[in-house]
Amino acid sequence: MVMFSAPGAGSSYVMEHLINWDSEDLDHDPMYRLLFPTLQMLSRRHQQQLLEARASEDPFALEAAVKDIRSDLNPQPAGQLTLNRPKSVELHGIQHKYAETCLLFPSAGQTCHAYCTYCFRWAQFIGDDDVRLAQKDSVAFLRYLGEHPELSDVLITGGDPFIMRVGLLKSYLGKFVDPSFLPHIRNLRFGTRTLTFWPQRFTSDQDAHELLDFLQQLVEVGGRSVDIMGFVPRQPSRKREVQLGIIPYYMFLARDTGAQDYFSVPLARAHQLYADAIRQSSGLARTARGPSMSCTPGKVEISGIEIVNGQKSFVMRFLQCRDPSWIGRVFFAKYDETAIWFDELEPLDGGSVLPWDSRGFLRPGTPEEVLATLAQ
Ligand code: SF4
Repeated sequence: MVMFSAPGAGSSYVMEHLINWDSEDLDHDPMYRLLFPTLQMLSRRHQQQLLEARASEDPFALEAAVKDIRSDLNPQPAGQLTLNRPKSVELHGIQHKYAETCLLFPSAGQTCHAYCTYCFRWAQFIGDDDVRLAQKDSVAFLRYLGEHPELSDVLITGGDPFIMRVGLLKSYLGKFVDPSFLPHIRNLRFGTRTLTFWPQRFTSDQDAHELLDFLQQLVEVGGRSVDIMGFVPRQPSRKREVQLGIIPYYMFLARDTGAQDYFSVPLARAHQLYADAIRQSSGLARTARGPSMSCTPGKVEISGIEIVNGQKSFVMRFLQCRDPSWIGRVFFAKYDETAIWFDELEPLDGGSVLPWDSRGFLRPGTPEEVLATLAQ
């Protein structure tokens, strides 16, 4: 695969514990598939381009082909660099898309314990500073939080923030141990695979105890909520998940970047899979939202498939939105058995328009105005 410089691998824990190397059909081992790129993850055109460049035995031609293919794969989708990032150069590694949540990409946390073939943040790992989000300046980051009282959540992400030693982590978050420091920041979330890809980080790594102490202080002294936005491969039974306090959060659909064509599932099929899974779950585990598309206007859930005004329709709603007044709003689109992404959807015949325009941007106007606009 051309996304990453490494041929595909993971930490020794991932390699030894999460992949079933004895499987007769390794290609269908879920973790192998999620971590080891294959040529089939590229389109036929890109496969051919890559193979031709390789056959030329010219390293510069190969490098140029890889660069060209990467730029075709829509790095940093949904306006991550253009719409979500504050304009200041000293805030190169933060995003503020939704009113209450700020994303922090600490520069030393932009590597992972394994590189996932479906990752929508693959552009973080290709060594191109033009598309990489990385925040070095912790003072500017904290100043930004102070200037935005509407924020309540910080999501420290990457990459993987727990790649960093505790000292570095504290350079960004240490002040939150003081409850009087930016009290409007109540929730510190960590987007991380460490819990399952390198659990030693919390048990036997050199600074494991210091890390746990720090997280505990953030909670007990600083009064913050500390949340691990994790990933559980080879899921324990849902009953066991509930016992462990693991709360299913989102079912996400493959985003419009990288190997989307390879991993995508039609929206209709995804909804069926979600509905089947939720029916088999304990009520306590029915917390997952989805299937959800994280797209330019916000997070859009396929809530159902129903007949509306005599037409088979997708029922959708915004779980998150750049414009908070849209959150929770329900709207409809024409049912399409093959559509895999929001920009393929069409409004109902004779019905209201979709909340986004042809470029995927949220339409101007209040939700009421937009939804009341009838096709002429
Ligand atoms: S950011 Fe997350 S999904 Fe992407 S490669 Fe790293 S661990 Fe995998």
